[in-house]
Amino acid sequence: MKETILTLALQKSGRLTEDCRMTLEKAGLIIPDYGRALRVQARNFPLEVLFLRASDIAEVVASGAADLGVFGRNDLMESLHYIELEEVRSMRFGSCRLSIAVPEASGITTTAQLDGKIIATSHPMLLQKYLNKHKLNAQSLVMEGSVEIAPSLKIADAICDLVSSGSTLQANSLRELEVIFKSDAILIAQKEFAPDKQHLLEEFLLRIDSVTNALTLKSVMMNAPRSALSAIEDILPGIDSPTVTPLAREDWVAIHSVVEEDDDFWNKIRQLKAAGASGILIKPVDRVIF
Ligand code: AMP
Repeated sequence: MKETILTLALQKSGRLTEDCRMTLEKAGLIIPDYGRALRVQARNFPLEVLFLRASDIAEVVASGAADLGVFGRNDLMESLHYIELEEVRSMRFGSCRLSIAVPEASGITTTAQLDGKIIATSHPMLLQKYLNKHKLNAQSLVMEGSVEIAPSLKIADAICDLVSSGSTLQANSLRELEVIFKSDAILIAQKEFAPDKQHLLEEFLLRIDSVTNALTLKSVMMNAPRSALSAIEDILPGIDSPTVTPLAREDWVAIHSVVEEDDDFWNKIRQLKAAGASGILIKPVDRVIF
């Protein structure tokens, strides 16, 4: 009997490729590098990886030739197969925004002034959705790439393109006017997932989630007098509650917790010090299973 395997379509070479490879590797899935091979079998999991152009991934998953695919949320919104596909997970990388930008010297300061203007873009669906929603009568000029050049060539008044740091806009003397969509890399599947592969999907997701859920976590260890424990517990609740171990030094304990590295992280560290913690160790978390 033929072995049941999952098929995963990834971008062959592009912005999301390296992060995809890293995530699979950290999830313990060994994908051999066969150079130019476009179909590769994982060594230790019933998984075949197809390397495709990003623009073909939606079609290949929607047709059933692949079970899963990873690409940008923006790519899903632009795809004609949008209705047949569903997001299974955010991959927690590939963050960017789709923005409308105008030449720095342009007098356009509000989106209402885009009425009657020409906007160059590689994302016509998302742009049109935005224009319809805001009842703006602008015309889109569809370009495959190098959209930023259009205003200086006088073929468009504005552009609508993906931005992450904003340095490409700056290098082309463009000013960001409005963010119209926020994107990240997502794992997609057909809405009707093959029932005989469900168990493999669950095993695959367990591994992927263990990596993506750990990305923003830090393992924090410290020593403190026992009398400071309750104040420290209030600052660091941890996944369940912190692990507390007695130390040889009388009335002192070692405390271990896992903390989200969010905007408040360094504030928490300061509070821990103020509460009496010392020797605070901060380490990355490789993988976590909740
Ligand atoms: P590529 O075809 O290699 O340029 O990859 C494009 C995909 O990477 C886009 O569809 C986005 O989802 C994602 N991405 C993340 N950051 C950026 C960025 N700064 N510019 C363009 N695409 C980005």
